[in-house]
Amino acid sequence: MPRPILATIHTAALSHNLARVRAAAPDSRVWAVVKANAYGHGIERVFDALRSADGFALLDLEEAKRLRALDWRSPILLLEGCFEARDLELCSRLGLWHSIHCNEQIDMLAAHKTQLPHRVFLKMNTGMNRLGFAPERFRAAWTRLNALPQVEEISLMQHFSDADGPLGIAAQLQAFEAVTHDLPGERSLSNSAATLRHGDVLAGRSDWVRPGIVLYGSAPDFPERSAADWDLQPTMTLSSKIIGLQDLRAGDTVGYGSSFSADAPLRLGVVACGYADGYPRHCTTGTPVLVNGVRTRVLARVSMDMITVDLTPVPNAGMGSEVTLWGRASNGAVLSIDEVARAAGTVGYELMCAVAQRVPFAVE
Ligand SMILES: *Cc1c(COP(=O)(O)O)cnc(C)c1O
Repeated sequence: MPRPILATIHTAALSHNLARVRAAAPDSRVWAVVKANAYGHGIERVFDALRSADGFALLDLEEAKRLRALDWRSPILLLEGCFEARDLELCSRLGLWHSIHCNEQIDMLAAHKTQLPHRVFLKMNTGMNRLGFAPERFRAAWTRLNALPQVEEISLMQHFSDADGPLGIAAQLQAFEAVTHDLPGERSLSNSAATLRHGDVLAGRSDWVRPGIVLYGSAPDFPERSAADWDLQPTMTLSSKIIGLQDLRAGDTVGYGSSFSADAPLRLGVVACGYADGYPRHCTTGTPVLVNGVRTRVLARVSMDMITVDLTPVPNAGMGSEVTLWGRASNGAVLSIDEVARAAGTVGYELMCAVAQRVPFAVE
């Protein structure tokens, strides 16, 4: 028997979450963001469930090729644009739309020979200070692009840094609109958090929304709100089985560094999942986990191939019992990836992107 660890992708949940986005932004078209191999889910595995999106957004040219190989003929947007001049040839050949966030990219486009003018998304840096033209340089960039025969149409984009938190979107939205109010072109403003939390303010202002994490069933503003609060469903389950049992006596310790010590007798299960599977090593004692769909906790340190869990709340558990590291158990119980991420001091994004190569995937 192969080692029992498995990542299962839930296609009905992906479609459900996409429908949630549509409901939150009914007048916008949707870029389904599938960068990082669809947030670790696998582009080919999510494709069918998300193909009712209006376009796919990503940043790796190889991933764009994979979408075209799936016979996707609708828009694809490169969120970081081109990295070098020859990327533009692939854009022309595959019909990729691309963002323009710096003068070097305009230079490359000006030197590019193509019969087919490009659709570009000109990016403003409204305060995030990663990619984009400063507001005072934005119009000059627009004017330059607009004069190029290589450009068919210019859309306008920016990215919110705080749509999930108390700072919100007002200052960035204002910075964007002050500069762009009289420019033509479609707008793309919102990530997941802005789409769900600020849909009312953004209605009519964002022709394209760019949701990523919500499609994958994670709450963009956890722990303020949970995935269940937003009616999002988990799209990935990481599951394994119990492959060993120990009956601890009071005073017994567990794992490397003996970081857990039993203060009373306790039944412990050993699970075939460790940090080499992508389960975070920071998920020490207390991290939630489901055994037979019942919530219990990790004990002691995560090792490379194993974790140990408390079986006290699950007296019927034994060898081979189902363990759900995150996602949905067979009995329907859900453990949100966001809760596990929090125990590791990180976010669901990182966990789903980091499932290791050695973990087999299933699609249901
Ligand atoms: C990743 C990304 C998104 C999606 O962000 P989520 O928080 O996952 O919704 C949107 N826009 C850009 C430019 C991105 O890089």
